Amino acid sequence: MKIAVIGTGYVGLVTGTCLAETGNDVICVDINVAKVEKMQNGLLPIYEPGLELLFNRNISQNRLTFTTNLASAIKDAQIIFMALPTPPGGDGAADLSYILGAAKDVASLITDYKVIVNKSTVPVGTAAKVKAIFEQHTTIEVDVVSNPEFLREGVAVEDFMKPDRVVLGTGSERAKKLMTELYAPYVRQGNPIIFMDEKSSELTKYAANAFLATKITFMNEIANLCELAGADVDAVRKGIGSDERIGKRFLFPGIGYGGSCFPKDVQALVKAADEHQYNFEILKSVMQVNEKQKLVLVNKVLQYYDFDLNGKHFAIWGLSFKPETDDIREAPALYIIKSLLKKGATLTVFDPEGAENVRQLFGDKIGYAKDQYEALHAADALLIATEWSLFRNPDFEMIETLMKEKVIFDGRNLFDLEKMNGLGYYYNSIGRQLVNQSNTEETIYVGGHE
Ligand code: NAD
Repeated sequence: MKIAVIGTGYVGLVTGTCLAETGNDVICVDINVAKVEKMQNGLLPIYEPGLELLFNRNISQNRLTFTTNLASAIKDAQIIFMALPTPPGGDGAADLSYILGAAKDVASLITDYKVIVNKSTVPVGTAAKVKAIFEQHTTIEVDVVSNPEFLREGVAVEDFMKPDRVVLGTGSERAKKLMTELYAPYVRQGNPIIFMDEKSSELTKYAANAFLATKITFMNEIANLCELAGADVDAVRKGIGSDERIGKRFLFPGIGYGGSCFPKDVQALVKAADEHQYNFEILKSVMQVNEKQKLVLVNKVLQYYDFDLNGKHFAIWGLSFKPETDDIREAPALYIIKSLLKKGATLTVFDPEGAENVRQLFGDKIGYAKDQYEALHAADALLIATEWSLFRNPDFEMIETLMKEKVIFDGRNLFDLEKMNGLGYYYNSIGRQLVNQSNTEETIYVGGHE
């Protein structure tokens, strides 16, 4: 099939590449000239595991091309995907200007039937708005389909190639047939294509993200309570996760959810509910709790140093909002950096993929290390903000020689408490007992939970 994808961000580029991989002819269009030139030169603008291989293969076999010219991109396309940003507007509601603007541009250019597929996360009623724009600006027939994307950055290619499910919101039999044909190679293992109306499809995406954000937030609160009550969140997590109704995934506590989706989508759903005079109380609490959780590690640091960080130097491992991505949008690490700088500390940070994006925000206000050990040089303490695999089994003997003190604040619970106790580290993690060999008197890890 001939496909156009408008917007080549984390969703659009993965969508375009993976659609080319199953033999479709895909043209991706973006307004960012530098980005398009980069891709035309065979360079990926983002880090996403597994993408490069497919990207190179499909470019070299002429199934995947890039342009800034919308007219040429959509001319022969049977299906036009929109993978455009839907950032929060001033009032927290999703800003639909990118989607509606692109819809208007497309409407003025088309000369034959097209299926317009919205992959962006949009509020209920957006498909109807897009349809109205087409009715206003063209007499050519189109079908507008809501096809929310559920891929996770870091495993986006795998998620696209083998989705748990494909959700398609449309009442059109013609569009259903084309979309079923397009997605057939991705659902061969029996993972369902779920058809529904446009509104339900739009709400499904928000409901999924809001549910996951709530699950994480619930565990963060359980973790906070564990610390106060002397329980161990790892034990509690295992204890509840083995209940099939709860499930094992998304139960790891941490330093708040971030990223380009959860924060904005929870906020947009609350706002959409408000517009229907519905007070979505649980999500309002989720947002509040998450704001606090983002500073949980900073509060631990402040308490340890008696609220005086002047002259203190910290290393931070992990900047991206999750491992295996260079995406730092709404990453908890950014809040930690801002907050520690404000309190007078100096910082050296390391991230395998996200450091360049952080440099664009903080410039020379902080130091950037070329590897995880260089970041530790003369640090009073190490803070861990993202659970990249390479942080899981570091050389603790080397760490000891580099840092001023053996002090670790771990926002991702990477290390075993008993091991840290044996190594003599002050080790403060989330929802678990404090491991405190030498630095304060009150709490000593006693073990015995697992
Ligand atoms: P992004 O910011 O990474 O990419 C958006 C791209 O659109 C950019 O390259 C931008 O230059 C381009 N663009 C903007 N206006 C344009 C126009 N008029 N014509 C052509 N290109 C234009 O965004 P993203 O992370 O890919 O997210 C896109 C949508 O998908 C959002 O609604 C998001 O909520 C949703 N989504 C994102 C993820 C994710 O993990 N990132 C997952 C599921 C859903």
